[in-house]
Amino acid sequence: MIDEVKCSKHVCDTFTAVNELAKRRGFFWSSFEIYGGSGGFVTYGPLGTRLKQNVEARLRELFVKQVGIFEMESSVIAPGKVFEASGHVDHFKEPMVECQVCHTRFRADHLLEEKGVSSKEAEKMSLDEVAAAIGFYGIVCPDCKGVFGVPQRYLTMFETTIGPYSGAVGYGRPEAAQNIFVEFNRLFNCAREKLPFGVIQIGHALRNEISPRQGLIRLREFTISDLEFFFDPEDPSCRFISEVADEVLPILLCDTRLRDCETVSYFTVREALDKKIILCEWQAFFMAMAKCFLVELGVPVERQRFLEKLSWEKAHYSAQSFDQEVLVDRWGWVEVSGHAYRTDYDLSCHMRASGVDLRVYKEYAVPVEREGLVVRPVMAKFGPAFKGDAGRVASELSELSVEKVAADLDRDGYVLVGDYKVFKDQVEISHQRVVERGTRFIPHVVEPSFGCDRLFYVALEYAYNVKDDRVILSFPRYIAPIQVGIYPLMGKDGLDVKALELQRVLTKAGFMTDYDEAGSIGRRYARADEAGVALGITVDYDTLRDDTITIRDRDSWRQVRASIKDLSELLRKYFDGKIDFELLGEIIQNK
Ligand code: AMP
Repeated sequence: MIDEVKCSKHVCDTFTAVNELAKRRGFFWSSFEIYGGSGGFVTYGPLGTRLKQNVEARLRELFVKQVGIFEMESSVIAPGKVFEASGHVDHFKEPMVECQVCHTRFRADHLLEEKGVSSKEAEKMSLDEVAAAIGFYGIVCPDCKGVFGVPQRYLTMFETTIGPYSGAVGYGRPEAAQNIFVEFNRLFNCAREKLPFGVIQIGHALRNEISPRQGLIRLREFTISDLEFFFDPEDPSCRFISEVADEVLPILLCDTRLRDCETVSYFTVREALDKKIILCEWQAFFMAMAKCFLVELGVPVERQRFLEKLSWEKAHYSAQSFDQEVLVDRWGWVEVSGHAYRTDYDLSCHMRASGVDLRVYKEYAVPVEREGLVVRPVMAKFGPAFKGDAGRVASELSELSVEKVAADLDRDGYVLVGDYKVFKDQVEISHQRVVERGTRFIPHVVEPSFGCDRLFYVALEYAYNVKDDRVILSFPRYIAPIQVGIYPLMGKDGLDVKALELQRVLTKAGFMTDYDEAGSIGRRYARADEAGVALGITVDYDTLRDDTITIRDRDSWRQVRASIKDLSELLRKYFDGKIDFELLGEIIQNK
């Protein structure tokens, strides 16, 4: 990583240099600039949109195509009930302090972290402890030096109303996961009612962050990729585990963190599972994939780590959580993906709140005979009470657990079946020998959750380097926003026509191209390097005679002369990663 670099005219850190370059070359910039801007919102320009699409395409390639995960797309706004049931309305809150003088509001834990309090300490503090720590460190408003008022917990979801009814509260989703849980029954149906299966949703998430001041790292509207993988907790084996068994994972263990030490331990996936460092095979599999994905984006393993979350840092329902972090300039270790074993928590919450059965049925290998309670509808009373719905109510009643029915009848005198109350005298509960052919249970879930804007940012920062005072964005070739730049030596004498013809051929063959005839060829190469264009093709006077062109490699600046004839095929091999530039040169020379 480059700590100090020359950006435009002055020396600055890489974060500033990358942000300046991003703005100048149209990768991204702060939104609503003409109205003075609004923190936490960004606009991706032409190059940035392509780069982001390429990063997301790679996520799809890895998870949807290679692992067979389903993809779905649902709405960003959801009725309040969804986030009340999931626990977000009560818990999706951050500690906040307000300056008594200028009334600017700040994340209290972030102010404490700036004073050297570790995030693990700041995260477990009560509001009283936060207030005491702010007093202890003498923290005042960074903007006007005013004193802070009493800390409060602030709900970071965007609240709205759905339609013109003020009572119909809705929330902008702060994650894409809940859409997947609430649609579980239909998705399970799409999976032909077989576990395990996974569903990914890549889309916008909204979090009303208190004071976002870290560029793409902390946005109020960002793209999240939530993958929920459902499996039977009695059969947690991952059928792909042998493919990743030897992958090495850098893990910062809880025990190490509790000793205030930051030393990472390295385990193969196999060792991490054998030593019970990772509890679930599917979780280990997704962590291995996440590591390889970040390596593909240009982040070496030494700059990655999986932080095991301490008990008070992870959600109470999570059996185990890791944050995948990447070391970046200015901000240090930044979380790019979260890996949580969410157990059956979310489906249970939505089942309880909606009253809809979200369990799945599993047939026993051998039927089990046992003495047990059985509930039967008294049909003589059901008919008159429920009329045409009697059959449906009886069938829904049989879906409920006998224990629940008995407990509800005891407590309330009735049990709710859909919209109907079924009373004590309408059912018969008796002891009988029953043969059970199967059971219903709530699947368990592991979740890898990626922040696409952070993936984008780390890809950009890791691609950023300076050679001979010139900036080069050395993107891995499959995410380069422009694959091939096409440059006529001059914009005249038919060179421009020939170059445009070639561009058409390459565009039709599926390559992302850019045509540039402005300025000297040297300046055009420099412009292209700064935009991360992987290869440059120059059309010159020899091209008009013998149909050959020059191909230039962005990173090594090496050039080879090749014939236009087999160009598409050669470039396809190069961009599919089958050959590198050296081999591309050799192939051409041996022709
Ligand atoms: P979380 O549900 O908080 O674990 O977030 C999932 C992922 O979303 C994280 O690993 C981050 O990469 C990303 N993320 C979370 N909050 C933000 C934010 N405010 N801006 C950009 N990305 C975020």
